[in-house]
Amino acid sequence: MQLTKKNLVFLGAPGAGKGTISKRLLEKYPLAHISTGDILRAEVAAGTPAGREAETLMKAGKLVSDELVAGMVRRRIAEPDCDNGFILDGFPRTIRQAELLDEALTGAGRTLDGVIYFKVDDELLLKRLTARLNCRGCDAIYNRIFMPPRTEGVCDKCGSPLYQRPDDSLETAQSRLKVFYAQTSPLIEYYTTSGQLHTITATDQDEIMRELVALLA
Ligand code: ADP
Ligand code: ZN
Repeated sequence: MQLTKKNLVFLGAPGAGKGTISKRLLEKYPLAHISTGDILRAEVAAGTPAGREAETLMKAGKLVSDELVAGMVRRRIAEPDCDNGFILDGFPRTIRQAELLDEALTGAGRTLDGVIYFKVDDELLLKRLTARLNCRGCDAIYNRIFMPPRTEGVCDKCGSPLYQRPDDSLETAQSRLKVFYAQTSPLIEYYTTSGQLHTITATDQDEIMRELVALLA
């Protein structure tokens, strides 16, 4: 499988590193990166009706409605930059969303080429989530423990201040993990059955990149 021109799903618990790895892949391959979390946060910031619907649920670490996110994804994959292939990061998150994705892809005459499952144990997930830092200016992601910025609180890439996402508090991170096991993990079986699942267990980023590139070459 060639990495370019491929339509991929990145599946994994919050904190599994889907976003970080997506960004590294984009440095090498002309894929579009579609993060439903990023799209939703932009809607919340802009105060749109979708954002207002999503805000309370996101703060509580719960999932936003399947129809809402699936609609956003359907519109997004119709944009021209997705013609070179795309990474769906954080979508689908329920069986229903996977079905809606299948429908959207079929409707657009496209297919899904692979689902990458990033398998990470819970203890590490919680450590990563609660120490995560995000840049206000660009999309860069840091981690106080595992990937600290050169200067505390400041983005290496653009100099903007870093902040902690409100849903990265310990309490909300724990509920997001529960939501993952209850609502999202059934997708592991769903995509195993369809023969599309590839599991990556590495935690080291360079190792993950090597595995991904080999897997998709
Ligand atoms: P993470 O992968 O670190 O949990 P995301 O940025 O992907 O974070 O998602 C943040 C929040 O946005 C989720 O907790 C959920 O409330 C909402 N969200 C994102 N993607 C989806 C989705 N596919 N379905 C429902 N809700 C979603
Ligand atoms: Zn930045």
